[in-house]
Amino acid sequence: MGPLDGMLMGIKDNFCTSTLPTTCGSVMLKGFTSPYDATVVKLLEASGAILIGKTNMDEFGMGSANVYSDSGVVQHPFTYRRVAGGSSGGSAAAVGMKMCTAALGSDTGGSVRLPASYCGVVGFKPSYGRCSRNGLVAYANSLDTVGILSGTVKQASVVYDAISKHDPKDPSSMPDKLRSKLDESDSILRSQWTKGNLKGLVVGIPQEYYVDPMSDDVVDVWRSGIQFLKEQGATIQSISLPHTHLALPAYYIIALAEASSNLARYDGVRFEKDKHTDVSKKVSGDMMLYADTRAEGFGAEVQRRILLGTHVLTAGTFDTLFLPAQKARRLIQADFDQVFYQHNALYESSVEQEGQESTKVHVILTPSAISSAPRMTDVLERHESSNDVKAVDAYMNDVMTVPASLAGLPAITVPFGKSAVDGYPIGLQLMAQYGHDGFLLSIANSLA
Ligand code: GLN
Repeated sequence: MGPLDGMLMGIKDNFCTSTLPTTCGSVMLKGFTSPYDATVVKLLEASGAILIGKTNMDEFGMGSANVYSDSGVVQHPFTYRRVAGGSSGGSAAAVGMKMCTAALGSDTGGSVRLPASYCGVVGFKPSYGRCSRNGLVAYANSLDTVGILSGTVKQASVVYDAISKHDPKDPSSMPDKLRSKLDESDSILRSQWTKGNLKGLVVGIPQEYYVDPMSDDVVDVWRSGIQFLKEQGATIQSISLPHTHLALPAYYIIALAEASSNLARYDGVRFEKDKHTDVSKKVSGDMMLYADTRAEGFGAEVQRRILLGTHVLTAGTFDTLFLPAQKARRLIQADFDQVFYQHNALYESSVEQEGQESTKVHVILTPSAISSAPRMTDVLERHESSNDVKAVDAYMNDVMTVPASLAGLPAITVPFGKSAVDGYPIGLQLMAQYGHDGFLLSIANSLA
């Protein structure tokens, strides 16, 4: 008997599976079946999970509404009038419709937490390096994490326990020594609080997350989440994470730069070479093979991102865009380090974390999204207008989720309420210090 015996699970279509195709929602990989299984897929099967199928996604993980897929759009589990969110929209909708108990997603900048909020399910992004990315098709290596969607926090915890293992096949996988050290301090933290009794727990509310485009119904749910934790004895602390405004631009520079480099491998030679391009008719040289394959194999959003990503890596903009984005990333990480009680385990303990003791917190509570699930018609209209400015507007949906991604922190969406305007679900996001995944899950359970 394994810990996941009989649990029905969906797998996002960017995890390699040897028995089912892996398309990443892209024409480029149509019909591609990997010769091997991703490490996390193997771990799930070894734990007794029953994998029922692959789930739809935004092409190569790029999007926040799951309308950018060669397999079609993903509808919200309650209505075809709303989107499910992306890029792990298929996984969130499948869990929301109870087609499976849990599903794997991937989270580079919020792709698990955002659709979870829209669909009223739990979406957990573990700390960077906790779960192996071997066999997860890369979007942006320094940000990509495996994610879990499920109906409850407890289900997310059991799946997480089954897949959070060191993997020598993933160079960014957290070593066992650090795991044991973190798990030790985590179990001390966890033993201090139980559901209903959060006395002594300090919850940070960052002022900077109260952004202009956030709708009032989301603010109301955020307030009731704060009240709910207060009633269980938690202390609520207003905090400042002053570089939060840099997170969205920094994310869309770093993620796209890495994506443009990752996607260079789809050149028409290595993957499904002759499938998308009639080589005999079109090729007048290697560059044409490359250009034709990519023009036909990638959708408009992926092409837009490759162009942007390539641009920020060119000599002319490297110093003015790419390097400042990396600096901003460091400042965002430092903001978090200054507010958490827990030391960041990635640094030597001799490195002092500044910040006043009186404003330190154990966890941070914010919304996961600025609104409930957007209307399908609005999203499609923007998508079909082929207006770049409108398409880029959609990046705003990630404003709540990208800071934790840039800092590599564990973060989870817990469904908390419904919109007073349209009745659709709204989720809240809890974040904790790097590596304190188990602790975060136990506090998330108190919010459920
Ligand atoms: N919406 C974000 C993007 O398009 C996040 C995607 C993700 O986490 N895979 O980049």
